[in-house]
Amino acid sequence: MGAPEPQVDFIKPEGLSLEDEMLWREEVANVSKHWVRTVTACNSKCMFCLDMDTPRNVYLSEEEVKSEILRGRTELNAWKIILSGGEAALHPLHTEFIRYAKEVGYGRIQTVTNGWRYADRDFYDKCVEAGLQEMTFSLHGHTAELHNRLTRHKGSFERIVKAIRRAARDPRMIASVDVVINKQNVGVLDKIVELSVRLGITEFDLLHVIPQSAGFDNRDELFYNPRQYLPVLQKVFRLNRHPRFVVWTNRFPVEFLEGMEDLIQDPHKMLDEINGRRFHVRKYLDTGEPLNCRDPERCQHCFIESYCTTMDRAVEKQNADAWEVWNVGTDRRALRDLPDPLPWGIQSIGVTVDTLADLSKVVARLPQGAGLYARSGDAAPVPADLGVPLVLVAETAAQLDAWCGEDGPDAALSELEIRLNQSTAPWMLAHRDRLAGHLDRVRLHQPSFEHMKDATAQDVRTPRAFFEALALPVRVSGLPACNTPGVRLLPVRPVLDATMFDPGTGRLSIRDLSRYHIREGYRSKSSRCEDCALMDLCDGMHINMVRDQGLSLLQPLSGGGWTAEARAQLQAIHPDGNPRIRHGRPAQPAATSLPGYAAPAAAPADPLQISEANRAEARAKRKAEAAKLFAADAEAK
Ligand code: SF4
Ligand code: SF4
Repeated sequence: MGAPEPQVDFIKPEGLSLEDEMLWREEVANVSKHWVRTVTACNSKCMFCLDMDTPRNVYLSEEEVKSEILRGRTELNAWKIILSGGEAALHPLHTEFIRYAKEVGYGRIQTVTNGWRYADRDFYDKCVEAGLQEMTFSLHGHTAELHNRLTRHKGSFERIVKAIRRAARDPRMIASVDVVINKQNVGVLDKIVELSVRLGITEFDLLHVIPQSAGFDNRDELFYNPRQYLPVLQKVFRLNRHPRFVVWTNRFPVEFLEGMEDLIQDPHKMLDEINGRRFHVRKYLDTGEPLNCRDPERCQHCFIESYCTTMDRAVEKQNADAWEVWNVGTDRRALRDLPDPLPWGIQSIGVTVDTLADLSKVVARLPQGAGLYARSGDAAPVPADLGVPLVLVAETAAQLDAWCGEDGPDAALSELEIRLNQSTAPWMLAHRDRLAGHLDRVRLHQPSFEHMKDATAQDVRTPRAFFEALALPVRVSGLPACNTPGVRLLPVRPVLDATMFDPGTGRLSIRDLSRYHIREGYRSKSSRCEDCALMDLCDGMHINMVRDQGLSLLQPLSGGGWTAEARAQLQAIHPDGNPRIRHGRPAQPAATSLPGYAAPAAAPADPLQISEANRAEARAKRKAEAAKLFAADAEAK
């Protein structure tokens, strides 16, 4: 069955405001898609290739590729498929895979290519007739000398230019160009874009070189400091402001995109990056064996460093019994199947209920001694006599009116957690006296959101101004100190979602851990943070708040009372510093499984490694048979 067409216009609508354009980009970037690698073989040897240390020259079998194509439709419900490699067009069954993708119902079929085979008209036509609709060409230089030097492939420039020209003029095809920005071409990036525009291209994907595989081996020739090239980078990035052009960045360090936050890559793209490393990640989670690229020299340049840090911190909390809440959300069934005993230091059960009256039913299911951490849309009075420690999360002014009177938070609450948003902020400013005498039972938390549109709809503008106006030493989590003058800083409450565990294995699920990272862990700083006295202790601001309100919210602290006070508070929170993967924090041993589940089995092997091993075995067998024949022949003579 065909995938339903996403309700999004893929051609950039004219006349969008900057904010609307960012929301449009978020919608386009979040269209469900499925990457399928068909080969690792490639006829180029790009200096920054990510695949040089994966088994080379593997042509996945028809059965393997087709089952992966089908999985994208049946399990992932993807609308778009991207056939990739290596160079996917080298697979002898390339057109058959395109045809099959069309047959199983993908709405859009794309490939990423070095253009070599598409320079031949017959091949191009066959692929289009089979159903190919979108092509991304990897062009890395504006001259044959530069492009061929980077691809280490004589003649590749002439062929890719021919293929781009053909696709860009074909009304049936959507053609775009990607460029891996590196030390060799960053100075002429504008010229590469000019050439592409002359060939008819209006959409660009600009990829930052990353420290994997050949990219790391050739780091001296490839790595560059974006700060030194900001004028040319900004010139190209600004093309996105033109209504005819669309520019995407890919893996580009967020800290250098101040003033161009619309170009920050959608955080969900990180899911693709993590998916590509899922076998290594699984092995780390299940056995404690670190990813083979784990090395501060690499990690400091790696786009998914923030994910690896979130993953490490999650496992560390398991190992150190430092989680606080087991959150089942609205899932009543999960309430019946609570882990027994509660693992990893968990003391409370998190629930989301329709009405506060439902809480008494929840209490009946709580394990002995556990507390409740509850959210609800209800603004009824706090139920008395639940008999367990209760934290209520207030998200509206109406709830604050109901739960925080003249005498402060309701006596039945062990803590009132106030989510800072456009409804609660004015209430707090108008009723600061209701909070002032009760600060030990109040926590303000800046929530973070998976999607920028929610940040736009809910976040207060310029939180620093809010805290200056509130002028209370209230306990605060979720914001960097430069935005919270005069408060008491808290770490974000460690809430572990039940959905983060695979119900079949009782282990952290990579996909859900990735979503948790996007929602909670993905924070960023400005390049100006280098001048901040808290640089080593601070993780920055959530990525969607940065995308929504800009990196200019971050104001380095360099002196004065609050700087010293904030530093002392952060040091108390992080007595051993706040090391990240990039600083070489030690790897974590594998954590235990959920109670009732077996210890982790050996992590599943990478199918590419299996395929390569099978091929090596077949080669060895053929060699042995040939040697046998040769020996028999020699003996006969
Ligand atoms: S952060 Fe380090 S360990 Fe994680 S993927 Fe990047 S290079 Fe590998
Ligand atoms: S390091 Fe950056 S984000 Fe953190 S407090 Fe300083 S200026 Fe703010």
